[in-house]
Amino acid sequence: MIEPAELGLLDGFERALINDRLHLVYQPKISLSDGTLKRVEALVRWEDPDLGTVPPSRFVPLAERHGLIDEMTRWGMDTAFRQWKSWHDHGLECELAFNISALSLRALAFPDLVSDYCERYGMPPSCLVLELTESATQPLVTLMDTLTRFRIKGIGLAIDDFGTGYSSLMQLRQLPFSELKIDQFFVADACYNKDSRAIVESIIDLAHKLDLSATAEGVESQEQLQLMKDLGCDIAQGYRIARPLEGEKLADWNKIWSKSWSELVSN
Ligand code: C2E
Ligand code: MG
Ligand code: MG
Ligand code: MG
Repeated sequence: MIEPAELGLLDGFERALINDRLHLVYQPKISLSDGTLKRVEALVRWEDPDLGTVPPSRFVPLAERHGLIDEMTRWGMDTAFRQWKSWHDHGLECELAFNISALSLRALAFPDLVSDYCERYGMPPSCLVLELTESATQPLVTLMDTLTRFRIKGIGLAIDDFGTGYSSLMQLRQLPFSELKIDQFFVADACYNKDSRAIVESIIDLAHKLDLSATAEGVESQEQLQLMKDLGCDIAQGYRIARPLEGEKLADWNKIWSKSWSELVSN
């Protein structure tokens, strides 16, 4: 039995998916060594004419519950890869990060599907990073075979929101990740709370000892940006750098950002 409120949402989501009315925005990530654009993360958006803006935290779990997540993933990959090619064709070089629901990884053929997208759009696999979050329904450790196939192909795997939710050290020990994303909760707190700072410092150290790169998410202030650089974090992402933006705005943002970096942080 689906509740009426969920049914309305589901109906709207299905229509948006079928009629190509979902939308992607892209949030830049920078290298903390020199401030340059490293990668962009594609984030899905849904503006419904009746329901208004529905956040991904509501409709992604909905899509997962009702068997629509694979279709959303395929739509999103096609859209994001096409955008990446357009940047590439205009001389704007960056990698692409894409959030993948753990449920989509149950299909053993999924890594080949992703390779097909890379080939179709001329993207080297090393330019792609898939961001994964552990969920209660599909623990990542059950997906070892699929994850290994991605790494063999040279595609990066990041563990998202590390330190909160279901993520555990067991995953770092067992799974072939290439990157660890420190959850924004710890990043936000690190400038004001010595315990959070100690946790961030230790996560960065842990990442490096495991040969993973570390990304700080949710960097909202200059102070946090400087701290993440000082702590040796590799990559940063957050509102202080850029909000998620429309694909065609990336080049303009990059021009402005590259001029401001040297004034923003000290070495
Ligand atoms: P996430 O992958 O951890 O994405 C980061 C979220 O933090 C995004 O929210 C982003 O807009 C937000 N954010 C970025 N910088 C800042 C900051 O400085 N401060 C604060 N307070 N927030 C910041 P968003 O776009 O609402 O996405 C929420 C979650 O929904 C994502 O978390 C991801 O798990 C999921 N999601 C988004 N797009 C997709 C998608 O295409 N597919 C799948 N499967 N999941 C997606
Ligand atoms: Mg993510
Ligand atoms: Mg995250
Ligand atoms: Mg998140």
